[in-house]
Amino acid sequence: MQNKTVAIIGGGLTGLSIAYFLSKRGIACTIFEQNERCGGVIATIHEQGFTYECGPNTGVLGTIEIEKLFAELGQSCTLETAQKSSKIRLIWKQGAWHAIPSGLWSALTTPLFRLVDMLRILGEPFRKPGTNPNETIYEMVLRRMGKSFHDYAVAPFINGVYAGNTKTLVTRFALAKLYALEQNYGSFIRGAIAKAKYNKKHGIPTPSKQVFSCEGGLQKLVDALLHYTKANVFTQCSHLTINPHDGIYTISYTHAGQEYTNSFTHVITTCNSHVLSTILPSITNEAKQVFADMQYAPVVQVAVGFKYWKGMSLGAFGGLVPPKEQRDVLGILFPSSMFKNRAPKDGAMLSVFLGGMLRTDIISKTDEEIQTIVARELQTMLAIPDWNPDIFKIFRYPHAIAQYTVHMEQVLTTIQSIEQANPNLIIAGSIRNGIGMADRVLQASNIAQSV
Ligand SMILES: Cc1cc2nc3c(=O)[nH]c(=O)nc-3n(C[C@H](O)[C@H](O)[C@H](O)COP(=O)(O)OP(=O)(O)OC[C@H]3O[C@@H](n4cnc5c(N)ncnc54)[C@H](O)[C@@H]3O)c2cc1C
Repeated sequence: MQNKTVAIIGGGLTGLSIAYFLSKRGIACTIFEQNERCGGVIATIHEQGFTYECGPNTGVLGTIEIEKLFAELGQSCTLETAQKSSKIRLIWKQGAWHAIPSGLWSALTTPLFRLVDMLRILGEPFRKPGTNPNETIYEMVLRRMGKSFHDYAVAPFINGVYAGNTKTLVTRFALAKLYALEQNYGSFIRGAIAKAKYNKKHGIPTPSKQVFSCEGGLQKLVDALLHYTKANVFTQCSHLTINPHDGIYTISYTHAGQEYTNSFTHVITTCNSHVLSTILPSITNEAKQVFADMQYAPVVQVAVGFKYWKGMSLGAFGGLVPPKEQRDVLGILFPSSMFKNRAPKDGAMLSVFLGGMLRTDIISKTDEEIQTIVARELQTMLAIPDWNPDIFKIFRYPHAIAQYTVHMEQVLTTIQSIEQANPNLIIAGSIRNGIGMADRVLQASNIAQSV
């Protein structure tokens, strides 16, 4: 029997993690990456005493797999959990920041939510579970919690995570764990309590859910994965196609003007849905259309650094902006408050997010226009007296975050039928199984087990 040879298309966090887990099992693999570097959207820059991210700034230790991964990578990538103050999350409402309530008293006195909705929450455990499998997050929150919770907790959270629209994201796909709690236990609150009890009774470890980065930035995670994986890594591969033939996959690509062809027993794709139609020419036109129709939120991330910070106190994770407030930013993170050595002493590093599904116009604005928007918003929202940042870098992601809308039903069915027709071809990445870094590592671990 032929030895397993695995090709991984895409060297972002998903591809690198799959390669890492496969290497641990002694399975050889080859990564094909179109860019000149691996890491995908994860990249860290060190400049003028600042350390800042081009893509994601933080992750959540939301699965045991990502915790284990950091433990295994050891000192080559030191996990850094966020300072205690980052438990404070701010929400913008009517011209001021307000902390998300962390206890009963703050919950009852916060100006974020209406008292009637606060009282409504007490009835959540007794409310009937939903029956519409395609219920949107907006509909679900209105049904279980109330409008002010939607507007000033869930919608800004969804802005921060999905850069998405609560009226189109479907709970079953976008908040799968929450959906399962409601379906299995009848209520989020009852479900969370029952699950915690069950895990405790059966000794099932639960993840800490702490906010994390790495000392020196998330690039360290990419470097450590590359260091430990025994994969062959080919970068700058263009015009890549995957062609199945008699149970073997032929990968053709161009590198430095030369065409190459290699054969593999297994292929795992990790790129976004729009790329699949090109790299899998043998799939049906119908399948290509389903992938082409999948939506991704466009996001602009701006790193802004000040050597001397003169604005408001930044002792928090950052601030999220509800769509209802109609401002031009989705949120502002305070990385230098969360993690060490992100800015010179007395300075500050900020990460500003703009765009998303509700402001798709922002991605096509010029650098000057974005600079004007960010300057205006930060001066107002963070009380910056003079606008003289030492770092101002714009990063554009036209297809940043997969949107798990009602269309996911078709996407998942299409993936299933392609995988059934092509044994050992696996379609991975954030096209399914979650968009966060912890989701990517969990998916990678599961896939590596199944190969
Ligand atoms: C701006 C932004 C902010 C984010 N913030 C957070 C956050 O705060 N917390 C969090 O948990 N997650 C966040 N995420 C999501 C997180 O970054 C991703 O889940 C994760 O990094 C995605 O990894 P990936 O490998 O699946 O995809 P990618 O990083 O996109 O990697 C895919 C790789 O495939 C390559 N590729 C594409 N097409 C081809 C081809 N034809 N041939 C060869 N190679 C190809 C690409 O070049 C890329 O390197 C954010 C994402 C973005 C964009």
